[in-house]
Amino acid sequence: MRIYSIGLIRKAFTRTMGTALLTGLFLILSPLANAAETPFIWWPEADYDPAVPTLEQVVGHETGTKISWHAQIVAYFRALEAYAPDRVKLFSYGKTWEGRELIYAAITSPANMARLDDIRAGMKALADPRVTDAARARTLTGDLPAIVWLAYSVHGNEISPSDAAMQTAYHLLAARGDDRVAGMLDNTVVIINPLQNPDGRDRFIHRFETTLGLEPDSDPLSAEHNEPWPNGRTNHYLFDMNRDWIILTQPETRGHVAALQDWYPQVFVDLHEMGGNSTYYFAPEAVPYNPHLAQNQRDSLFLFGRTNAKWFDRFGFDYFTRDIFDAFYPGYGASWPAYYGAISMTYEQASSRGLLFRRNDGSEFDYRSTVRQHFVASLATIETTATNRQKLLDDFYDFQVTAIEEGRNDRTQRTYLFPGTRDRAGTRKLMGILAEQGIEISRAEAEFRACGQSYPAGTHVIDTAQPRKRMIRTLLDRQIDMEADFVRIQEARRARDLPHDIYDVTGWSLPVMFNVDMETCGRPVTTGLVPVTMDRIATGTLSNPEASVAFLSPWGDMAAGRLLAAALRAELTVKTHDEGFNHQGRVWPAGTLIFDVADNAADLGATLTALAAETGAEIVGVSSSWVDSGKDFGSRAVRTVPRIRVAMAWDDPTSSYAAGNTRFVLERQIGYPVTAIRTDALKTADLTRYHVLILPGEGFGGSYMDTLGETGAATLKDWVRRGGVLVGTHTALRYLTHEKIKLLSTARENQPRGDEAAGTSGDEKSRVAATIINSRDDMRALLTPATELPDSLPGVLVHANVDGDHWLGAGVAPTLSVLARGRDIYAPVAMDKARTVAWFAGADDLLASGYIWQENREQMAYKPFALVESAGRGYVIGFTQDPTVRAYLDGLNVILANAVFRGAAHARPVR
Ligand SMILES: [Zn+2]
Repeated sequence: MRIYSIGLIRKAFTRTMGTALLTGLFLILSPLANAAETPFIWWPEADYDPAVPTLEQVVGHETGTKISWHAQIVAYFRALEAYAPDRVKLFSYGKTWEGRELIYAAITSPANMARLDDIRAGMKALADPRVTDAARARTLTGDLPAIVWLAYSVHGNEISPSDAAMQTAYHLLAARGDDRVAGMLDNTVVIINPLQNPDGRDRFIHRFETTLGLEPDSDPLSAEHNEPWPNGRTNHYLFDMNRDWIILTQPETRGHVAALQDWYPQVFVDLHEMGGNSTYYFAPEAVPYNPHLAQNQRDSLFLFGRTNAKWFDRFGFDYFTRDIFDAFYPGYGASWPAYYGAISMTYEQASSRGLLFRRNDGSEFDYRSTVRQHFVASLATIETTATNRQKLLDDFYDFQVTAIEEGRNDRTQRTYLFPGTRDRAGTRKLMGILAEQGIEISRAEAEFRACGQSYPAGTHVIDTAQPRKRMIRTLLDRQIDMEADFVRIQEARRARDLPHDIYDVTGWSLPVMFNVDMETCGRPVTTGLVPVTMDRIATGTLSNPEASVAFLSPWGDMAAGRLLAAALRAELTVKTHDEGFNHQGRVWPAGTLIFDVADNAADLGATLTALAAETGAEIVGVSSSWVDSGKDFGSRAVRTVPRIRVAMAWDDPTSSYAAGNTRFVLERQIGYPVTAIRTDALKTADLTRYHVLILPGEGFGGSYMDTLGETGAATLKDWVRRGGVLVGTHTALRYLTHEKIKLLSTARENQPRGDEAAGTSGDEKSRVAATIINSRDDMRALLTPATELPDSLPGVLVHANVDGDHWLGAGVAPTLSVLARGRDIYAPVAMDKARTVAWFAGADDLLASGYIWQENREQMAYKPFALVESAGRGYVIGFTQDPTVRAYLDGLNVILANAVFRGAAHARPVR
């Protein structure tokens, strides 16, 4: 495809990378370079105004001849703004973990730019029919431009979108021959977020440029096309930010969601890349659709798809629609905006993952051609928005009107109530995250009754008679069902041993993942409520700062977890009570933290007051250590938590997601530093200075068995026996339980079988015993492997029960929500080998949210989730599923903190 352009890209590359001498050599050696320099055609009719700055003028390369760095992208948009402040305005919406600026640009006609603040206010008015009646809305929708938001490259190694973003902006300002442009600028405000993941993109480019030679190489085998761990897809903490929109753990997503609510764009597109052997994907999305999408949103996907198709046909670009990328999970960039009322879409371009790419069929394509396809789709989307301006604005307002009506008429789930009596900090954080997504929340000033139940003062209340009703339902409901037809097809595929087509997790209910109490009521709560806005962390309290004996803080939520981490970092002496006790009429839970006045500096009260404020913890000073019942503070039930050093495996074969997510939870949610150690170094490392080592699950780059093997196991065993705490999660248990390793005494289970599969021959020779097959079923039985693993789960929330008497379960909720993924189910293990501290619930109680295969439901019941095995002076702790996946299982943070801190407090190293 377009050989001339590949010649040009090789030549352009040599010009920018090489010296004059090298360029001379290249011109002599390369026949391609002798071809006439045909200019690359971005848009056939476009005649670009030479006064508008080009990318080459600003950063030194033509669009598509290099992969532009974050700094170059920012510089280019600044240059456009400086050149045409009457049409371009830049906004900053935050910084990445590594300090790179996050920007977006609004581009529109001078007339619209002059009233940009009014347009923004108009969108906010349309978003709330309670303050904007139908007549006023009609005036607004008749007058306002529509807003279309194009967001590029959330995955940093998906490179062409960001360069297409710059070409799109340039075209809107400079194209004189494309007669659509004037209408686009008059009828829309185009908002371009050119790069959602600067840290990941720069990581990709740095690695890519390091591998380059004389000319770009199209071979998929070349180093140019293969990224080391961690690849550029993720951000600094190795998050897939395209799953983060409902939970907002990362600053990039958080800032983006806040920015969207400044503008309420009616159209949102997230532009990605997929494998190089594919073509181009745009809307409509594949089934299943989330049931809380409105009908006109589903219909409008076809409007956009058809205009895109028209231009793709004209230019001869291949594409596909209605396949693979579904509209069910609400946490994608291309899903979340739908729940405030946008038409929300994903576009996917086959990636050159470099400057040139060779497909499996031998044909080549260059980076510039991929940039062009995203550019054409971007313009087509703006065109569709402009030509459907009035309809899109009317639909947007109607979405809000019907949302409120549906909420108001709901006789079963009108109101969601969060009493917050258990896990106050988790409830508070959840409310903060919902508020950041625009959900209105109230708090009860006094005790009240609703639907026959009594609720305490401080209960948070969400009334669904508000514009975000559909978002509330999709984020909070315990169960969202996939379309029945779709489920039937998936089950039929499984029955024929074909893979299912479920794209992502099937359960994401936030109250389930946070494991906080929520109830619903079919009536509004009408009295005693005050609207609240809030941060995720409440200010904590310390009472009786002059206490003479100790300060106590109840364990069981992440406020206490943050307090423990902060206290250790502040070098306080902290003890924990494994069993709980009664003291002066108050019940203190297992795990309660004790700060003895005698063990700490004289300013302990002041230090703890500051720590309470920052962590949200409740701290109570006491002037007597006498307990009414339970074990005394000087008993064996009380342990000192050492100032631990935590290490974790980092790099292949560790999953970058699991490693990054786990490090994030420990460092940024709990507040404790983690030392990342390259996995292969662990094979022989002296780990003496570490108390805890975490082995996160395996990724796609090999296995711990290959990397660490028996030598690594000997190193780890020796370290554990001397007092180390080894914590393995999810697929890391394949290694810990391997028959040659046996760091943990359980084993992965196969699929259960009847005796029908016993017929395969065990004959080692070249001939086998004859069989007579009487039916298709008999044939199937013979074709079935003798042993198989359970079918892989795409992701479902299940319940696990906890032994609160064991230190690993101290202060932990009696029932947990665990995201079960994959096919690893572990066998029960006898108590003399290991303690099963948390286990999956019985089959009837197992499902918390989502869809689970029936066989897995039966097989998982009562199987271990959390195990502790004692070895010498240390412990091996195993979680059979990942407790930190996407950092969104907040309800598992207490048991994780127990594994790390309490595990270290129970180990007995001699140092
Ligand atoms: Zn992507």
